Amino acid sequence: MKKPKGMVTIVCECGDEILLIPDPKEMGKAIEDHVDLHLQNLKGPGCSAEEAKCLRNVLIAQVFSKGSEIGTENHE
Ligand SMILES: [Zn+2]
Repeated sequence: MKKPKGMVTIVCECGDEILLIPDPKEMGKAIEDHVDLHLQNLKGPGCSAEEAKCLRNVLIAQVFSKGSEIGTENHE
């Protein structure tokens, strides 16, 4: 998959990339949508509610660490 330059993504443990959106509300929705795929066994080996919670935390942690990359894209 080709990624446009400057595009920041977070990577789920299933290998899927989720595009980082600067809007926290939209980003939260994108994560929920992806975690939902796991809960419905549409992604990965399927997972329990506990594992889904863990997946979500991992994704959110990546949003926080990568979020700063977006912030540094202002031209100086
Ligand atoms: Zn996944």
